[in-house]
Amino acid sequence: MKKRNKSKTIDILIPTYNEQGNINTLVDRLTFSLPTKYNYNLIFIDDGSSDGSLDEIKKIKNKSFSIQYLSFSKNFGHQIALKAGLDISNGDCAISMDADLQHPPELIPEMILKWEKGDDIVYTKRLDNSNVSFFKKITANLFYRLLNSLSGLALEQGAADFRLMDKKVVEVFKSFNERNLFIRGMVNDVGFQKSYIEYEPEKRFWGKSKYSLKKMYMFALDGITSFSIKPLHFATILGIFISFCAIIYSLYAVLIFFTTDLAITGWTSILVSILLLGGIQLTVLGILGEYVGKMFLETKNRPSYIIKESKVK
Ligand code: UDP
Ligand code: MG
Repeated sequence: MKKRNKSKTIDILIPTYNEQGNINTLVDRLTFSLPTKYNYNLIFIDDGSSDGSLDEIKKIKNKSFSIQYLSFSKNFGHQIALKAGLDISNGDCAISMDADLQHPPELIPEMILKWEKGDDIVYTKRLDNSNVSFFKKITANLFYRLLNSLSGLALEQGAADFRLMDKKVVEVFKSFNERNLFIRGMVNDVGFQKSYIEYEPEKRFWGKSKYSLKKMYMFALDGITSFSIKPLHFATILGIFISFCAIIYSLYAVLIFFTTDLAITGWTSILVSILLLGGIQLTVLGILGEYVGKMFLETKNRPSYIIKESKVK
């Protein structure tokens, strides 16, 4: 196994959206846990916070780190903030983590140790303890099952955006220009030597979760549609199956018409089949629409985030 040299720089990427009450504690806990043999850049990506997060970041006085930040013009979302962090990362490796202390900084030395031993990606798996809400556990479980069966990815339950990536993996991510980012899936898909650490998430230190139901839904949809075209196959198969049933049913209707005088009873079945077909057509159109919409957004090729203010070396 290859050994890594000492005294290198490690970037710590922290997407931050309205986390003013967490920043100081996070910086303190990082100060106590990080091995001193490296240089550290703390890179905050302020995702359009409307509270005093950016001011808190500017106020940090800490000799152990060099502080950098990007501040977006509005809220672009966690995944895009993470991508922006990777885009400006120049360190020998980059560690991404949440600002709310659910990702314990004390785990970082172990990640670094694995990196020193030659792993290019060290990811983390969340052990579902009581600090994760029941609702989050259920929805996450459902999502990973669906995503894996549709995309052929083997994403593990509880995969989190708390991970270390070597410079060469970061370079790969810099070259990805898609708008619909699902970084967890991409990490799983790029190859390289990987290992993982399990951890018990802590309670959010301050504030509320920024992942609303709508954001979780969009995140799940991006995950599925950016890795798989299986839903489109599913739409085709469903269409064929329904058409087949319709043909059989119409044969039956014709038979009834010619052989009995009960044809008027068809009222109910007509109504039911119209409703059913209408519903299925809309579903299929919706699936198609998701992909067409994504193509539309990608072809415009607009930048995926807008920076209002920054301090980057
Ligand atoms: N976050 C962000 N932009 C958003 C939502 C969240 O940058 O639109 C950040 C947030 O500040 C935190 C991390 O992403 O550092 C994870 O968010 P959160 O803790 O709210 O999610 P949860 O842990 O509840 O899934
Ligand atoms: Mg959190």
